Amino acid sequence: MKKQSKPKVAFFDFTDCEGCQLQFANMGVTLLEITKLVDIVNFREVMSEQGEDYEIAFIEGSITSDNDVMRIKKIREKAKVIVSLGACATIGGVNGIKNRTPLEIAKQRVYGEKKETVNTIIAMPVHKVVKVDYFIHGCPIYIPEVINVIECILMGKPYVVPNYAVCTECKMNENVCRYEKDEECLGTVTRAGCNSWCINNGNRCYGCRGLVDNPAVDGQKDILLKYGLKLEDILKHFTLYNDSVGEKYDKELK
Ligand code: SF4
Ligand code: SF4
Ligand code: SF4
Repeated sequence: MKKQSKPKVAFFDFTDCEGCQLQFANMGVTLLEITKLVDIVNFREVMSEQGEDYEIAFIEGSITSDNDVMRIKKIREKAKVIVSLGACATIGGVNGIKNRTPLEIAKQRVYGEKKETVNTIIAMPVHKVVKVDYFIHGCPIYIPEVINVIECILMGKPYVVPNYAVCTECKMNENVCRYEKDEECLGTVTRAGCNSWCINNGNRCYGCRGLVDNPAVDGQKDILLKYGLKLEDILKHFTLYNDSVGEKYDKELK
C-alpha cells in the first residue's frame, strides 16, 4: 500500500513581535507530536531550511506595506489553507495603534525627514487582503486552541471561533470578577476561546481576541454605572487592541 504523504506546513511572519510563533515553538513535546502528522518545511524561528512547497500556511503579523500585500497574495496562490495566527494577523493587533493617526502624520513622527523613503500603509489583518480559512486569535495565541484548530485542519473541518464573551469562561472557572476588586475588565465584550486565561492568572482581560460580533454595549454601560465608572475609564485602559478601523480598511482597499 502506498504510504500517504504528510501535509506540508509553512510559517510566515509579517509585521509583529513573533511572539505567537514563539508560543508554537515552545510547545515542546506537543510540537514533536504534531510533526508526526505534518511536515514543517518553513519555520524561521526553529529551522534554517526554507521550503517553498507547502499546503498549509500559518501567517503571523499584520499587513502594513505594499510589499506585504504582494507577498501575502503569492502565499495565498500557493497554499490550500491559510491560518491567521495571533491578534496582529486576525484583528490588526497592536499595529492598529498606527491607524488612529493619519498615515502621513504617523510616518512623519516615526521616520521624520526620511518618511518618503518608507513604504508603509495602514495596518490590516490578513483577511482584509486575502481569504483566510482559519483564525487563531490572541496576543499571544492560546495553545489548547491551537491544537483544536490543527485537529480541525487535518480532519478538513471548519473551526468555529467562539462568539460569546470571555465572561462565560471566566464564570465557569469560578473567578472573582475583577470589577469586584475595583478594576476594569474587557471580558464582557471580548471574544472567548482563551479559557479566561488572564483572569485565571490574576490579571484582567485587555481584549486581545477582539470583540464578539454583537458586543453587549448596553450591558457594559450598566456594569460601568454599577461600579461608578465612566466610558473613558474603560477606554483609557483598553486601547491596545480593537481599533475601530473598519472604514479605513475599506477605503484603503478601494
Ligand atoms: S499577536 Fe501579540 S504575541 Fe502574537 S505576534 Fe502579534 S504582538 Fe506578538
Ligand atoms: S468582567 Fe472580567 S473578571 Fe468579570 S466575569 Fe467578566 S471576564 Fe471575568
Ligand atoms: S483574557 Fe482577554 S486579554 Fe487575556 S487572553 Fe483572553 S481575550 Fe486575551
